[in-house]
Amino acid sequence: MSGDNQDIMGKIVSLCKRRGFIFQSSEIYGGLKSCYDYGPLGTELKRNIAAAWWSSMCYERDDIVGIDASIMMHPKVWETSGHLAGFSDPLVDCLNCKERFRADKAPTKDPGTPVEYHIGGKSSGQKAKAPVGECGYVCPNCGCPKLSDERNFNLMFRTSIGPVDPLDELARALENKTLPAAEIRKLVDEANKRTAVYLRPETAQAMFVQFLNVQQSMSMKIPFGIAQVGKSFRNEIVTEHFIFRSCEFEQMEMEFFCEPGSQSEWMEHWRHARMNWYHQYANQKNKFRFRKHDDDELAHYSDECFDIEYLYPWGWGELEGIASRTDYDLTKHAAASGVKLSYFDQQKNDPATGKAGWRYTPYVIEPAAGLTRSVLCFLADAYTEEQGVDADGQTKTRVLLKLHPKLAPYKAAVLPLVKKDGQPELAEKIVAAFRRRGVNVSYDDKQSIGKRYARHDEIGTPYCMTIDPESLNSQTVTIRDRDTATQDRLPIDKAIELVIERQNRS
Ligand code: ATP
Repeated sequence: MSGDNQDIMGKIVSLCKRRGFIFQSSEIYGGLKSCYDYGPLGTELKRNIAAAWWSSMCYERDDIVGIDASIMMHPKVWETSGHLAGFSDPLVDCLNCKERFRADKAPTKDPGTPVEYHIGGKSSGQKAKAPVGECGYVCPNCGCPKLSDERNFNLMFRTSIGPVDPLDELARALENKTLPAAEIRKLVDEANKRTAVYLRPETAQAMFVQFLNVQQSMSMKIPFGIAQVGKSFRNEIVTEHFIFRSCEFEQMEMEFFCEPGSQSEWMEHWRHARMNWYHQYANQKNKFRFRKHDDDELAHYSDECFDIEYLYPWGWGELEGIASRTDYDLTKHAAASGVKLSYFDQQKNDPATGKAGWRYTPYVIEPAAGLTRSVLCFLADAYTEEQGVDADGQTKTRVLLKLHPKLAPYKAAVLPLVKKDGQPELAEKIVAAFRRRGVNVSYDDKQSIGKRYARHDEIGTPYCMTIDPESLNSQTVTIRDRDTATQDRLPIDKAIELVIERQNRS
């Protein structure tokens, strides 16, 4: 990351804490690595992003319905989906500085190339040289090529369900026995297995295992989709860039079930629909791009995959994956559960026999977006610094979050200039009018008007409505636009309408 960009990330993180968007989890105890708590404004922003996504999926079209599934699912789900055996990253230890890292994200170098590194880690003065091994990468921390072998590290969090502590039973069984470590390990695995459940590493599997219930209870006809927003958990080897990669995060995923053979057409549809969704709420459209997965990168069940990437302050990174998952998941779950997860289309002829009526296993297109990652993307997109001159002629920096009004925590701030002369009462009336319309606004009478404007610029409030002596005479307010800092006097009703109307504009 260049100095400037590192600076921007630092400023975003600091703004998030100072203004109540995002705090370190358990901060008073020193924090828990990579866990974050959303403060009052961060919660609003996250809910607004999720609501905009939900609306685009479930309310603006009639072929998608939503579910809210439990985080813990039957362990068979993860066995069948392949997560138990294969949802892992290659873990490597640096034998020099002891850093633990992901092999697939490490800096690459040609095998045999001699590289220099600091013995014991970057801070030591003593240097040594060694050739890059056959693996073709070096430690991302100290650059040393002396590394452990790769081993697969499963990213799922395991816990146990039921009023039994499996390890307690095991401890009693082992009392007074001396066994080799490998035997103990086997017994531990056995004991865990009986009560093991996993925190879901993606929300998607619930949509596959509930395919039939949703299709039948809602009389859905193919093509149709099932959408879900919720928490997912991955015991990431390396967590990074604030909320970009954390162990607990939220996803917005939709499984779109379609006829076999129509998947390319739907892939086209969804990748453009999803890109347009981001563009609708972002300022800098050029910071979003598609990245098509190469054939050797595709998951074994996928026949096409695109990432939507965003240019974060440290560079391009994934924001959403749009995968064509074929009929893999439904076929696997049908075979493992014995329940037919197929669809019968009476209107179509079976292409194999030419006879009326076609039973098939639907194909799936999956737009899988990160909700918490979208929070970071929209914060980075909105963060703006403007140079200006204050009333005393001093140069100063105005910091503002140019959030789309639909995403902004408050849609307007209502500011009485003074706390007397009927101004607070009129301001409260305006606030009540917004609340009756279900619009979240802030009543703010703290500090000078300049400081209030600055605070609302920094938290992304699109409009400030100021009540002054003239307001009481003429039932007007001055309305200040966050992005231009221009002020207009408008009748109160018109100002309210402007705020509400602006939310719905792209
Ligand atoms: P990455 O390559 O960044 O690890 P992925 O390809 O494993 O991501 P998917 O399994 O496709 O991610 O999940 C869909 C989306 O969920 C991602 O595009 C991302 O926005 C979000 N996501 C995945 N893992 C995390 C995480 N650890 N923290 C925050 N968001 C995540």
